[in-house]
Amino acid sequence: MQDINWNDYTLETQAIRAGHKRTHEDEHSIPIFATSSYVFGSAEEAALRFTGQKPGNIYSRFTNPTVNAFQERLALMEKGERCLAFASGMAAIMAVGMGLLKAGDHVLCSRGVFGNTILLFQNYFAKFGVQTDFVDLIDTAAWEAAIKPNTRFLFLETPSNPLIEIADIAALADIAHAHGCLLIVDNCFCTPVLQKPLTLGADIIIHSATKYIDGQGRCVGGAVVASEEIIEKSIYPYLRTGGATMSPFNAWVFLSGLETLAVRMKAHCDSAFELAQWLEQQPAVGKVHYPGLASHAQHELAKRQQSQFGGIVSFELNGGKEHAWNLIDATQMLSITANLGDVKTTITHPASTTHGRLSPEARAAAGIKDGLVRVSVGLESIVDIKNDLLRGLV
Ligand SMILES: *Cc1c(COP(=O)(O)O)cnc(C)c1O
Repeated sequence: MQDINWNDYTLETQAIRAGHKRTHEDEHSIPIFATSSYVFGSAEEAALRFTGQKPGNIYSRFTNPTVNAFQERLALMEKGERCLAFASGMAAIMAVGMGLLKAGDHVLCSRGVFGNTILLFQNYFAKFGVQTDFVDLIDTAAWEAAIKPNTRFLFLETPSNPLIEIADIAALADIAHAHGCLLIVDNCFCTPVLQKPLTLGADIIIHSATKYIDGQGRCVGGAVVASEEIIEKSIYPYLRTGGATMSPFNAWVFLSGLETLAVRMKAHCDSAFELAQWLEQQPAVGKVHYPGLASHAQHELAKRQQSQFGGIVSFELNGGKEHAWNLIDATQMLSITANLGDVKTTITHPASTTHGRLSPEARAAAGIKDGLVRVSVGLESIVDIKNDLLRGLV
């Protein structure tokens, strides 16, 4: 089994079998290596491992076999050379910043990104002399115009949260490279099942494994996928020192999450598409944001760039915030939680939760209206999901 070249296999198979180095116990399922450290055969061997002259585990802040298995598997699925796991998606973004940026650098970030990502750039990186400008995700010309001589990277999410806008990854990768910048894509909403940003020219992928990779809302985790050079030079030294490590238990949960990711994503996408079409018919609903709909501004781009349209639908209620809150409170089955990517359908009001800490001006600039509701479509029967929403739509 160790000799198989998993690059020759499809994503569905890699997701189930890659990364497991079977031990002398011949286990079929990947074990959880609950150990903080490892023993060395001799003082000399310890010294060689610490300097990196001899491969092998040292300490679980930066080497653990269960975490390694997760990293290998996700790297293959994203068609990247290396993956490093982190304690959370935010820790992964932090690691990229800490590894790549220095005082005086400049970052370009899309406006519609995850709320905490904005705060990380704006409130924390800024303290250390890194300035960030925010750009309209879908305005390719605006990205290019905003690049400065000291811009280090462009950072974006596509599809965005919560408006499900789509950025042209290949076009932005060309622009970034023409100006000597890196392109970083948070691939949390699509996962490698729907979209592989590295194959479109991106340099670094961020994951919040907390979402679809887990898929059942159990653990918090994150990952960075990139070339061997970027990981080895910039990200691994920070992980080793900064210490925002993924626990072996969480890696084990995420490994089994990856095994069902392809079938889950397909089911999420099918239901979300059906729900989006149904929502468009509801009189109380204004705009429905879903890239599978012909009414979506980047429908053609989404068709080109993604294999399916994703599991998140957001929509605007004509009755504004009051109707949005009433709808959320009228549901019986749906979970009122900001998490997404779960087998359980979740419903949230972005303006007062995930994006509630942004100033009203920043929220308006990001296009997040008070009547906006976001649904992460789960794997319950779509009939029951529609009926639950109907309680608050009439
Ligand atoms: C949740 C999320 C994050 C942050 O991940 P955590 O695991 O919660 O730290 C980053 N990006 C996107 C798109 C997310 O949805």
